[in-house]
This record gives sequence, structure tokens and C-alpha cells, in this order.
Amino acid sequence: MRLWIVLVLLAGSGAAATRHAMGHRHALLIPLLLVPALILGWQEWSFRSDQDVFSVIASEIAGRDVRVECQRFTGALLDPTAEAGYVQFNPDGTPADTGRLERDACRDLRAYMHGNRSDPTIQHVIAIQVLAHEAFHLSGIRDESKTECAAIQRIDDVAAGLGATPTQGRAIAERYYAEVYPRMPTAYRNDECKQTGALDASPNDDEWP
Ligand SMILES: [Zn+2]
Repeated sequence: MRLWIVLVLLAGSGAAATRHAMGHRHALLIPLLLVPALILGWQEWSFRSDQDVFSVIASEIAGRDVRVECQRFTGALLDPTAEAGYVQFNPDGTPADTGRLERDACRDLRAYMHGNRSDPTIQHVIAIQVLAHEAFHLSGIRDESKTECAAIQRIDDVAAGLGATPTQGRAIAERYYAEVYPRMPTAYRNDECKQTGALDASPNDDEWP
């Protein structure tokens, strides 16, 4: 939608410039069309390049080339679900190649990535976990509690992909596990999701999550 508005505005300013060059006076109309085209064009470029960063992070975790798409404004208006992210699974049990993030989760991820990252809000922490969680669905894990537990153990890597230092990434992992994980619905929790538990991906180190 935004891309179409940009193209229409650019076409309009191009037409106005042509007519101006031919002697019709459009001195005011040209910037009136061109300035919003440049602003919206920059927003669209920034939105897409951030999606590309999320896709690279998710591909790294999924171990294959996947896409992460952020919900658009119009999609958010039509979305009746409260899910922060979504990956479709095919009838044969394999995941789709594209995961979707809801508008608020994307906004929080982008705010974190472009902010100073030293003092993340709990919404930032949750959004980072949502990206890690959907990346593990894209890797082929369907079970919610296993997906969530795998994601908790890579949330620091996701944060690093967004620009966090190792210390900042550790703090995010510990904060999610302490503050958010215990409040997740039962389907997302697992008693073995703990240090040296069956879902500990690296039971021989002291690091948790
Ligand atoms: Zn899930």
C-alpha cells in the first residue's frame, strides 16, 4: 500500500515536472508531491530492510533460508487474533518458509534495534523472544513448549543480531526466564525447561537459559 502511494506520488511529481518544463507553472505542486514521496519511500525502505535483518536472524536459527514478514497497518486492522507471531505448518508437518510477526512485536523489535539497547522495556524483551520463537517454528519444531524453551536459550543470539552486546543479551535471556516465562500459558511451559533439564540444549555448561 505504502509502496503504491510512493509510486503514485512519484509519477505525479514526474508529470508535474514535465509539464513545468513545457511551460506550465507547477513550482508548488512538484515539492508538494515529491516531499511526501521521499518520506514515505524512506519509511518503506527502512521497514523492508529491518524485515531483512529479522529474516537473516531467523534463517540462522532455523538452519535454512526463511523469511520473516511484519504485519502491515491494514493487516493489523483485519487481524482478529492476539498472537504475536505465526508460522503456518503444511499438512505433512513441515513449516512454511515465511513466518509472520504482528505489528506491535515488529514495532518493538525495530525500536529496540534502533534504540541504544542499554535499558530495554519488557515489551522489547518479549518481542525479541517472539522472533526467536517463530524462528524455531520455522526450523520445524511445532510443539509450543519445546519451541518456547529452545527460543529462550537462543534469545541472546537474537538480541545480538539486533545489535546487543553479549552482556545485554544475557540480561535479556535472564529477564525473560524470570519475569515472562513463569506467566506464559501452560502449553508454552515445560518442567524440563531448566538448567540440566531434558530441554537444556547445552546441559554441560553453567549457563542458563
Ligand atoms: Zn508458537
